[in-house]
Amino acid sequence: MAVQESSPLNLIDNINQFLVGRISFPAVNFVLNRGDILRRYHELLASELYSQEALRELQFQKLQAALKHASTWIPFYARRFKDIGLAPEDIRTLEDLRLIPPLDRQDVINHRLELVDTRCHDSVSIADRGRHQPGLPVLFAKFRRHKLVRNTSTGSTGSPTVFYDDGTTTALNWVHELRLKHWFGIEPGAKEARMTGISTAYSATGMRRSVRECFWNQMILPGVFLSDREYQFSLRKLHKFKPRVLWGATPALTGLARYIQRTNEDIAPCRPELVISWAAPLYEHEKALLAEVFQSPVTNLYGSREVGHIAMLCPHGSLHVNQENYIVELEETGGNEGKGGPGKVLVTQLNSSPMPFLRYRIGDLAELGPSACACGRSLGVLKSILGRFGEVFKTNDGRLIEPTFWCLAFMVGRQSQEVERFQVIYRPNNRILFRIIRRPGYSEQTEADLRSLMDKHFQSSVQFDFEYVSEIKPQPSGKCPIVLNEIEPEEKGLAELQST
Ligand SMILES: [Zn+2]
Repeated sequence: MAVQESSPLNLIDNINQFLVGRISFPAVNFVLNRGDILRRYHELLASELYSQEALRELQFQKLQAALKHASTWIPFYARRFKDIGLAPEDIRTLEDLRLIPPLDRQDVINHRLELVDTRCHDSVSIADRGRHQPGLPVLFAKFRRHKLVRNTSTGSTGSPTVFYDDGTTTALNWVHELRLKHWFGIEPGAKEARMTGISTAYSATGMRRSVRECFWNQMILPGVFLSDREYQFSLRKLHKFKPRVLWGATPALTGLARYIQRTNEDIAPCRPELVISWAAPLYEHEKALLAEVFQSPVTNLYGSREVGHIAMLCPHGSLHVNQENYIVELEETGGNEGKGGPGKVLVTQLNSSPMPFLRYRIGDLAELGPSACACGRSLGVLKSILGRFGEVFKTNDGRLIEPTFWCLAFMVGRQSQEVERFQVIYRPNNRILFRIIRRPGYSEQTEADLRSLMDKHFQSSVQFDFEYVSEIKPQPSGKCPIVLNEIEPEEKGLAELQST
């Protein structure tokens, strides 16, 4: 593998990056009602060096404003606070936030309109009737009365959550992405190729595409339902555009990387300086694949479409919470009360938007880590994202088997030479199915080795079935999860073994 050549920007590129980063990107976003991007970006670069105490004080001040906004303008929270006899002033510390019941995905589905600022209710019906694709901005939103954009998020169960944004959350996403790129030495305005999902993000065509490339230095590439045709197309575009950043959902990036490996494409002339994965966990074997193929640092944005970018992976490997704008709590799961350890992620947005999420269960299990990081930032750290609720398997003796376990079993060591890809399916009656795309070296011995590894961990309490396939098809949402849970929907909890 060739070593990355240093690629000093020439003068024209420098000027172009400066003009886009300092003028046209913030200006166009201002028109789309996503104001103050540069100012907030610089504020974050200062606040990430605050002490943990100062960050918590900042969080508390913003929380007070967010609670006041929610109790005044959001009928769902006004009623919820009344039901539990709570006023925003009763929250006197960050810990008091626990007095507010968590918000579930089902709450969002059932009470969609009540969760929207009453001042925007007439905009909801306009957004619902709009012919825009989900997530597409309202042109000149800054100067319009109806600014709301309808967007959807699909859980792995497939039931969509509809939510609305007036630009507040999108602006924050941009600001956090600028901070992330700064961590890797890339300043605003750098050329970026974005492999984005067509159904839930921009699918810019024609004029919109060229405007975006010209004013934002962003090129849009296909992001879902990808085949060799799309990868080939994307590579042609990458060679022409030469982005410094390659951004995309993890499955899209790894799919492109595998295609490059398989076809021996020479990507030296268009190698990015940073790869940013998003929308799905980035497992170690996937990170290693991307680093090997693109010969560049690989980072990850953790979050959800509803609430935005919650945490980001720094160059030292810590997943830092964007603490100035989010409070992340871990809700203890059955069996670990008072013991710390993994818990369900609850997220509170600290910036008042037309549809604020307070203590939102986004559906993941995670562990908190120590906030000290070699990068010097004191932002809190998520030690690990264990996976979606339904992806974590609870064994008879109470151990949690997280998706990382399957990655280690299939993609590390000798197996990595023999397994191309895999999927694990939890099935009723204590059965787990392994769906495997084999590499040429895969033999009967490989299966025997995997069976004995499983027996060691599961003490024969689970029956393992192997299915060999030539393709692992993505779900309708475009996601291609490592784990599928056919035992029970993700929202109901961990995939528990039935007693034998
Ligand atoms: Zn760090």
